[in-house]
Amino acid sequence: MQKLNQAEIEALLAKFEDPYTCSSWSDMQALKSISVDNKISINLQLPYPTKAEGFIKSYSDNVALYLQSNNINVPLTLTIESRIQAYKRSSTVPGLTGIKNIIAVASGKGGVGKSTTSVNLAVALQQSGAAVGFLDADIYGPSGPTMLGEANAQAGTENKNIEPIMTFGIPSVSIGFLVEQQTPMIWRGPMASSAVTQMFKETNWPNLDYLIVDLPPGTGDIQLTLAQKIPVTGVIICTTPQDLALLDARRAYAMFSKVKVETLGVVENMSTYHCPKCGHESHPFGVGGGARMARQYNLPMLGSVPLDLELREGMDAGKPPALSERQSTSQKAISDIYQEIALNAVGRLSNLGRDYSSLFGKVAIETKSPD
Ligand code: ADP
Repeated sequence: MQKLNQAEIEALLAKFEDPYTCSSWSDMQALKSISVDNKISINLQLPYPTKAEGFIKSYSDNVALYLQSNNINVPLTLTIESRIQAYKRSSTVPGLTGIKNIIAVASGKGGVGKSTTSVNLAVALQQSGAAVGFLDADIYGPSGPTMLGEANAQAGTENKNIEPIMTFGIPSVSIGFLVEQQTPMIWRGPMASSAVTQMFKETNWPNLDYLIVDLPPGTGDIQLTLAQKIPVTGVIICTTPQDLALLDARRAYAMFSKVKVETLGVVENMSTYHCPKCGHESHPFGVGGGARMARQYNLPMLGSVPLDLELREGMDAGKPPALSERQSTSQKAISDIYQEIALNAVGRLSNLGRDYSSLFGKVAIETKSPD
C-alpha cells in the first residue's frame, strides 16, 4: 500500500487546474477539506453548476489522472458542492434583484446559429442544476418560441409585469409570446431596443443564477443600445468558420470591447459535417476560423458544434439536443458538446471575481476631513 503524506497531497492538489475555469484549485479556493489515509477524500466547492449527467465521474477521472501522473495511485472520492455567485460586470447600469449573472449570445450576422446556441446553452445549464432564464432579444426574428417548443404560447401578465413562459424548467420571454407570430416587427431602432429593455425589466423573473440573452444579430444601433442598457456580465460570440462570418464576428467583439463587456469566448457553429451514410468528414464553411479568431484576440475557444441535420430538425420541433431526454447517439454527442461549451463559458465567467455590489445595493462612501 502506498504511503501518503497529507501535506504533500494537499500541495499537489492545490495546483490542479480546473478544466472550466482554467485556474488552479488554490486560486479558486475550491478545496474545502481533504482527508488522506489509504485513500483520498476531497470536499470541493466549484463556482459553476455540477449536476449534469456524468459530471462527477468525468471530473473525478481528471483528478485521478492528475494524481497518477504524479505517481499517486489510490482510490479517490470527490464530494462536490456548487456555489454560483454574482460575478463582476463593468456595466454601471443597475442589475435586477435576484438575477446573479447575465450572459448575452451575439453574432455579427444572422443565420450562424446564435439562437440555436443560446437555447442549447440555457438548456445545458438548467440540466446542470443552475437556475436559468431565457430572454429572446432577437426582436425582428424571434425563433425562441419555436426552438423552446412553445410556438403558440402567449404570455400573460401579473402585477402589470410579464409572466414568463416556463419550458424545460426555464422561464422564458420573447416578443413572440407577446404578439401574433405572423406580425412583422416594423419598429425603428429606438422602439425595438426599448421593447427589449422593457421585456428585460418588466418580467416577473424568479431568482436566477444565469439569464441567457439571445441578442439580435449585427453590430448596429440596436445592439449597441442593448449592450449599454442591459447589465451584461459576459458575452459569447457565435460564428461559423468562414471568413465572411468571422469578419462580422470580429466587429461584434470590437463593439463589446468598446462598451467594456467581457467576452467569455467564441463558439464555432457548423464546424464540420459528418456524412451519415459514409462517415466522411467535410467542412462546408471552411476550417478552424473560430479558433483563429479566438487566438487573434486571446479569447477562449468555448467549443465547436457540427452541422447536423437531426439538430436542425430538433430545433424546428422544439426539442433542443441539450435536453437529457434525447433520442439518438448523435444527439447525445451534441448534447455533450453543449454541456462542455456551457461549463467553459460559466467557468470563465467565475474568473471575473465576485460582485459584492449585488449584496449591498449601492453604497455611498463619504469622506470627512478632520475638523
Ligand atoms: P441565428 O440566430 O444566428 O439567426 P439560428 O440559430 O436561427 O441562427 O439558426 C439558423 C438555422 O440554422 C436554423 O434553422 C437552425 O436550426 C439551423 N442550425 C443552426 N445550427 C445548426 C447546426 N449546427 N446544424 C444544423 N443546423 C443548424
